[in-house]
Amino acid sequence: MNTKQCKHCDEIFNLDSIAKKAAGGKINECPDCVEELGTETAVKYTGLQIEETGSFAISRHATEADRQKHMNDRLKMDDLSK
Ligand SMILES: [Zn+2]
Repeated sequence: MNTKQCKHCDEIFNLDSIAKKAAGGKINECPDCVEELGTETAVKYTGLQIEETGSFAISRHATEADRQKHMNDRLKMDDLSK
């Protein structure tokens, strides 16, 4: 397990946890503080929960255009699978 100590609240958190990956922020900031302090502002996230498997897929997008392209690619993939 890849644990780090948060520089804000001194809490030990798991760097590889889904919560941390979803929240983003620096490697020395726990997901709670990232969300509370809003330290992750530059990167947009597209989260996708797959209910049957419980797995969680997250894509990072630096710009809105990148995110839109990602969503379009996903739609294309969905079309092909029909
Ligand atoms: Zn913290």
